[in-house]
Amino acid sequence: MPNSEANTVVRTDLASVHGGVDIVLENVTKLYQGQSAPAVEDFSMRIEPGELVMFVGPSGCGKTTTMKMVNRIIEPTSGAIRINGDDVMSLDGNELRRHIGYVIQQIGLFPHFTIAENIGMVPRLLGWSKSKVAARVEELLETVQLDPGVFANRYPRQLSGGQQQRVGVARALAADPPVMLMDEPFGATDPITRERLQAEFLRLQADIGKTIIFVTHDFEEAIRMGDRIAVLSERSRIEQFDTPARILASPANEYVRSFIGEGAALKRLALIPTSDASLSLGDPAAPETTIDEKSSLREALDVLILTGAARVNVTRDGTVIGSIDQASVSATLRLPATAQRRDQEV
Ligand code: ADP
Ligand code: MG
Repeated sequence: MPNSEANTVVRTDLASVHGGVDIVLENVTKLYQGQSAPAVEDFSMRIEPGELVMFVGPSGCGKTTTMKMVNRIIEPTSGAIRINGDDVMSLDGNELRRHIGYVIQQIGLFPHFTIAENIGMVPRLLGWSKSKVAARVEELLETVQLDPGVFANRYPRQLSGGQQQRVGVARALAADPPVMLMDEPFGATDPITRERLQAEFLRLQADIGKTIIFVTHDFEEAIRMGDRIAVLSERSRIEQFDTPARILASPANEYVRSFIGEGAALKRLALIPTSDASLSLGDPAAPETTIDEKSSLREALDVLILTGAARVNVTRDGTVIGSIDQASVSATLRLPATAQRRDQEV
């Protein structure tokens, strides 16, 4: 269909997709020039539309290299990568990157641009009108919980690290890309800010349903954030690729087990809502100790331990629907991981 766009290299369908799309990597290898061994070797994976996949592994194992081949900041030596069925090698690199949100630890805001100018950059490149860009910037600042009246005209150095990181996320979301690549995005922030950014981002993702690759070296972060986790070793070798619950319940090998570290049972409890446990009758003798059914079993166990109560009442919308004790917490933990929440969500 020849038209005026015929010589603008390639138009990608990604421009018109805003929910998630699938990402397929097939036998992808990267051998950096002058190196004897590849940084990534024969990497294959399929990521479902709207899925948040965590790459977790030690420094130098190839996480960043693998991720950067998806938006072609790094060119693969061999293999194929398809987004929404399009071979990324057939697309123009700059055009491709305008439809893939990218967030990195160093944030990379332009210091001489205001926050609004930073966030509006890709939409401007895509030729949006001034008023449409301005409206989008305002909407995104609100999305990441920064007051536009306060922050739009500031410069990056006038923001805290956590605030800058929120701007980084807003900028990546600006053109509503179907795919997001996030490389240790919250790694430079203090633990409390980090937890808040993680929680905020999960709430956001529940609405936007992007297809996301999220790199971290922190297994706790992987468990907290991921629909599925790929545990990687040297040369980006996939040691296990599964839901957090199933990896915690049955690590594939010693390498994965060592990555999980101590406390696998407690980590699993944090993933299971109290409503998954079989409840006994409510306990009229313990009217003060209650927990909402949406709270995790780990929180339920906390209450049991801290109060010393034999059982804790479980509430739904404030009404007691039953009670739970330690035996019931343990019994739920021993159920096959397939019964657990993360699996139902995927
Ligand atoms: P990670 O993100 O897991 O820390 P990287 O993908 O950055 O790992 O690096 C994987 C391997 O590739 C490392 O051994 C690293 O030293 C090497 N590497 C990364 N970038 C380059 C490059 N531009 N040239 C040569 N080697 C590189
Ligand atoms: Mg890296």
